[in-house]
Amino acid sequence: MPNTLTLALSKGRIYKETLPLLKAAGIEPIDDPETSRKLILETNQPDVRLIIVRASDVPSYVEYGGADIGIAGKDVLLEHPNADIYEPVDLRIACCKLMTAGRENEGEIKGRLKVATKFVESTRRFYADKGEQVDIIKLYGSMELAPLVNLADRIVDVVDTGNTLRANGLIPMEHIADISSRLVVNKASMKMKHARIQQFITDIRRAVKEQQNG
Ligand code: AMP
Repeated sequence: MPNTLTLALSKGRIYKETLPLLKAAGIEPIDDPETSRKLILETNQPDVRLIIVRASDVPSYVEYGGADIGIAGKDVLLEHPNADIYEPVDLRIACCKLMTAGRENEGEIKGRLKVATKFVESTRRFYADKGEQVDIIKLYGSMELAPLVNLADRIVDVVDTGNTLRANGLIPMEHIADISSRLVVNKASMKMKHARIQQFITDIRRAVKEQQNG
């Protein structure tokens, strides 16, 4: 829509950690997505609305113009290396690491390494850069289970405290990438709504800086 800003983000950790940044930029949602079933949330600013989408769908909504702006984890963005979008701000929220992990007492691995992950693109690139040929098994969740039932030798997953790995007898092994949430912008919107989006980016950058210093 011509004079509105539509911002796509996902529920959960990203939403919770984005709220204070939006608030510092003067934007407060009227409904709470954790309790409301609405997927479009109006805000205190009549020209700004939030849409609630799956985390892995944020790049598509932004690339194809369903949203002008999005907030997505770098883990998700790395899975969309060809997405034609701008990534102007590191929000420094929802920080974690993309890592390989495996069984604490793994024996000798014969043949090609089997790696279970939902991060197929990052995994493919990581092992290709090492010159190691591996079999990648795409999963959609509960990756920690895969080594325990011999579906895979390794997993690639996001790790924060490491508690989930430890609880399942796994240990983090190799660091692939530092992850945090990023602001992404639709390229056409950046042209058509330049002043409004620049203002938003400036406000959010200031909020990030204040949060880092405070
Ligand atoms: P932890 O037990 O603290 O290492 O957290 C690990 C689990 O929490 C992972 O399997 C992820 O599903 C989830 N997680 C932790 N941090 C993030 C993040 N920044 N973005 C998305 N998922 C996360």
